[in-house]
Amino acid sequence: MEENYIVSARKYRPSTFSSVVGQKALTATLRNAIATNRLAHAYLFCGSRGVGKTSCARIFAKTINCEHPTPEGDPCNECSSCRQFNENRSLNILELDAASNNSVNDIRELTDQVLVPPTEGRYRVFIIDEVHMLSQAAFNAFLKTLEEPPSYVVFILATTEKHKIIPTILSRCQIYDFSRITIADIIDHLQYVASQEGITAERAALNVIAQKADGAMRDALSIFDQVAASSRGNITYQSTIDNLNVLDERYYSRLLEAFRSGNVPQALMVYKDVREHGFDSHFFVNGLAQYLRDLMVARDPATLPLLDADDSVKELMAKQGAEMQPEFFYAAMSLCNDADLAYRQASNKTFLVELLLIKLCQLCGPSHGYSGDGEGRKLQKIEPVAPAASVATAPAPAVAREPAKTGAEPALGTAQAQPKPPMVQGYKTPHVASLRASEPNAASAAARRSTRGHVSMASAMQPKAVEERASVASAAPVNRSAFTPEQVLDLWERYMAANPKAHLLVNTMRAHQPRPAGDAENPELYVVTVVNPGQVELLSQEKPVLLPAFRRVLCNDYFDFRIEVDENAAAPTAWSDRDVLNHMVEQSPHLAQFIADFKLTLS
Ligand SMILES: [Zn+2]
Repeated sequence: MEENYIVSARKYRPSTFSSVVGQKALTATLRNAIATNRLAHAYLFCGSRGVGKTSCARIFAKTINCEHPTPEGDPCNECSSCRQFNENRSLNILELDAASNNSVNDIRELTDQVLVPPTEGRYRVFIIDEVHMLSQAAFNAFLKTLEEPPSYVVFILATTEKHKIIPTILSRCQIYDFSRITIADIIDHLQYVASQEGITAERAALNVIAQKADGAMRDALSIFDQVAASSRGNITYQSTIDNLNVLDERYYSRLLEAFRSGNVPQALMVYKDVREHGFDSHFFVNGLAQYLRDLMVARDPATLPLLDADDSVKELMAKQGAEMQPEFFYAAMSLCNDADLAYRQASNKTFLVELLLIKLCQLCGPSHGYSGDGEGRKLQKIEPVAPAASVATAPAPAVAREPAKTGAEPALGTAQAQPKPPMVQGYKTPHVASLRASEPNAASAAARRSTRGHVSMASAMQPKAVEERASVASAAPVNRSAFTPEQVLDLWERYMAANPKAHLLVNTMRAHQPRPAGDAENPELYVVTVVNPGQVELLSQEKPVLLPAFRRVLCNDYFDFRIEVDENAAAPTAWSDRDVLNHMVEQSPHLAQFIADFKLTLS
């Protein structure tokens, strides 16, 4: 039985146009040409590997020599010519693989053969595979024959790289472009082969094989053989992903669930699982990106055709994709892309991926609310019930710098009592161990669920503070303690101190400090005004880490800041010509001498 497995690609090679997988339009045209007896002398079959170019060339050669072709233009597979073809002993078909036979001599041998008319049948068909590999001299030698072949000769040139074919060849051929075979077509064919072989196969397993084959039927069949041989006639999804070392898609759906609920710990643990199964992180990031992309196109009927998948898979992905807003996918795909680009340069690649996952979890937090069920958005509108203790002692959130300090003092008690907040330590060495180390208690877990995640990271980062505030967390769905601008500036300073090596960041933070935005409806909104887009980028990148830390220490989940560019500061007219010249002279005293010597003036 095992022998049968190994030869699927050969055994199930199509013997008629009707049995060619995919390429329906193309084979219909070929059949029509044969049925109406309008044959060209040269054809060029283009398309990636394994899509049926050589199979179609062979069927074509067989059909035009068949004694009794069907009215549909298929070979009878019964006459002596067909049998000779099927048994590989026909003299009317010659194949040259130009990849390994690309010299002038190889072509001369072929052109000599062209002069020999068929002894049986009507046509001699010459198939030149990978024709783009022919040397320039070989091309030239071949051109003459191609221009004026004997009437009994048909050339079928095949190539995976059409753009490498010179125009003189292209213009002499009828060109057929083979499309990639769709996943659904591959699955259907594998299902057929399985049933013929008495093998049971889960459709999900065949889906994995089809994806792995990447549009090539021949590859799909040989992968199928490999899996069949090791799973003893019962191909399951699990045995297939194990055998092929494919990342289980269920990892991605678990991640999506974590993103949706803002569950950072879950996302990080899934990633740990992925690594422990021996999967490369870069591969994982790209797989995740593809998964998100597929969900995005699946959720909208207009883009569903862009998803190359089995119908059942399409249906499932459409359902999953609908759970999130399109904006989530746009942002998530962009983050994945950034991580992909940054991957090679990252010195700590695990950290890079973990940070990516954290950012993805935060996309559905209150500040974004990309979750499709609208929960994230609703959350923004919930007026939090401030914890009784805080309400009693704290005044309304102070936005003005001056009067705030004394008034807000009582509310700051807890935060200021800690000389060195764990936040700073936590961020000094941002490591996931600290994320995992603490198991948040039930109260903070409740808070985490209700606030869609942004607290979860913070609470996991600082278990002690969470315990202190456990009653607060359980009483109120969201923290909203009062704080002062001074506190924000103080945190800003401490954050810089905690990141001494991030020079660019620290310089930017030092030069541009947050101040209240003065928005009456969002008293917790601050603004950081910078002078160039690069700084916007820098701070935006830091924000996913910085913001949760600030919110936790301030005990206010509504704290937020926006980053603005000060147009005036960056304007080129800031310095006059005289200013520039004076500055240059200061920098280089020789310049002053030079100006004096040549009596130069500013015009
Ligand atoms: Zn026949």
